[in-house]
Amino acid sequence: MVIDRYAVFGNPLGHSKSPMIHMRFAAEMGQGLRYDKIEAPVDGFGAALRRFIAEGGRGCNVTAPFKLEAFGLATKRTAEARMAGAANTLRFAGGMIEAHNTDGIGLRADIERLLGTSLRNRRVLMLGAGGAARGAVLPLLDAGPAAFVMINRTPSRARAIRDGLLTGGHEGLCLDDCGSGEPFDIVINATSASLRGACPAIPPHAFEGCQLAYDLAYAKGLTPFLAQARGAGVTILADGVGMLVEQAAAAFAWWRGVRPSTGALIEELSLPLA
Ligand code: NDP
Repeated sequence: MVIDRYAVFGNPLGHSKSPMIHMRFAAEMGQGLRYDKIEAPVDGFGAALRRFIAEGGRGCNVTAPFKLEAFGLATKRTAEARMAGAANTLRFAGGMIEAHNTDGIGLRADIERLLGTSLRNRRVLMLGAGGAARGAVLPLLDAGPAAFVMINRTPSRARAIRDGLLTGGHEGLCLDDCGSGEPFDIVINATSASLRGACPAIPPHAFEGCQLAYDLAYAKGLTPFLAQARGAGVTILADGVGMLVEQAAAAFAWWRGVRPSTGALIEELSLPLA
């Protein structure tokens, strides 16, 4: 059997669950592949990637700090990658390096899994305008929410994302300055505050009637954001482990043309929030 090679590039990579997730997908789908961890030097991603391609690598995932560089090295880019300005997935064929970004696709899939229904006509509030938020806006807007509002501590970064969408012909992202005080069905914490045990500023009405509070950070237990949501009576609380598995499944499908199942693996990897 031919063994196709894939890998995740990052630095550091000690914590990465990607090899385990992709080997589980490969076993489920009967795909012969090998998946390695490649911890490239911070100033050596391009050289490590070229070596991997020369050795027959078919594709890779990319994590911090190389997502922007991966996007820059690509010769072809999907709409999701262009919107994010960053790539978390690459594939190689015919001398081309094609860049994709599956983070937002994974977030949308996980939210719809948790709700048991689509995001269509839901009101969504996203806190944060960093790399993950930038990658999420297009897939979330494509889902057809009734409202999609972004708030960021540094407003200029949120404005830049909205302007990029408009330039690309996409409308529908409002910034906090268009907030009407109406409640939200879904509040997403796409800031990195939880990684430091902090909480972003949350509009006072945000959790009133809110069904789902979603923190992109994972393995951090009940973060201050999720604790605040629980205190306000939000019924579904989730961390980003489902997004992690779903973005991997979307990458696997893009590489291999078959989509693995995710629910059982998400349950297995989920840690208690409390
Ligand atoms: P970035 O560094 O690109 O962006 C950080 C964002 O958080 C900025 O909007 C920043 O605001 C904001 N922020 C940081 N601290 C605070 C604070 N104390 N109060 C308010 N806002 C704050 O990070 P990423 O976008 O890459 O990552 C964001 C989160 O998403 C992290 O928790 C990361 O672990 C998670 N993530 C999860 C994934 C998954 O698969 N589950 C995948 C990718 C990321 P400002 O612009 O003002 O600095």
